[in-house]
Amino acid sequence: MRLDRFLCETTDLTRSLAKKALHREEVQVDGEVIKNPATQVDEHTRVTWNGERLALVGLRYVMLHKPEGVECSARRGLYPLVRELVDLPHVERLQTVGRLDVDTTGLVLLTDDGQWSHRVTSPKRRCGKVYEVTLAEPLDGEALDNAVARFAAGVLLDGEEKPTRPAELAMRSPCVAELTLFEGKYHQVKRMFAAIGHHVVALHRESIGPLSLGELSAGEWRELTEDEVGLF
Ligand code: URA
Repeated sequence: MRLDRFLCETTDLTRSLAKKALHREEVQVDGEVIKNPATQVDEHTRVTWNGERLALVGLRYVMLHKPEGVECSARRGLYPLVRELVDLPHVERLQTVGRLDVDTTGLVLLTDDGQWSHRVTSPKRRCGKVYEVTLAEPLDGEALDNAVARFAAGVLLDGEEKPTRPAELAMRSPCVAELTLFEGKYHQVKRMFAAIGHHVVALHRESIGPLSLGELSAGEWRELTEDEVGLF
């Protein structure tokens, strides 16, 4: 690739700032000052900027413990974005793998690998997402048996043409449910509970398939290991 593009890929420089850095003789290629932005380089070329070695980064895979009040969308609205919590170069290239609502906490995956993201979210792969759901009112007795059966059979949510895929419901305590979904529709957990007359007061995603938050506290993130990436 061209040297100016390489500088943009590996630093926060824009194309015009990269050209200025070249003009100021701040860039060396294999030990020689190079000013021509069209010089061809690749991942094996030794490129330095102000003495610092620059390296192309591969695809990135991140898990983050989303706190409340942070948004999973691509553009900044009222709330800060989840990717603003991640301290990596070119973080704007990371997309969330599915979304959590602003008031939902828990596990979010981010990546710039679209195919991997698709593998994680595709309902065909039956990658279970486990949510801890806190309800305003207790759910027990016959109402619980009915809810387990309805969620297992699929619920037709308002505005949808097809019922939800079979989901697994269990109670951890009278007001705290564990719900496992194998798909991700808009506000799905809240809408499923609304369909059985229950209001969700807090929602937390604990795991996505084999990945769970482990020791990560709210607001913390880490890159996935190669083995973890290979699980999907
Ligand atoms: N279901 C919801 O209702 N909200 C979320 O954030 C995730 C799943």
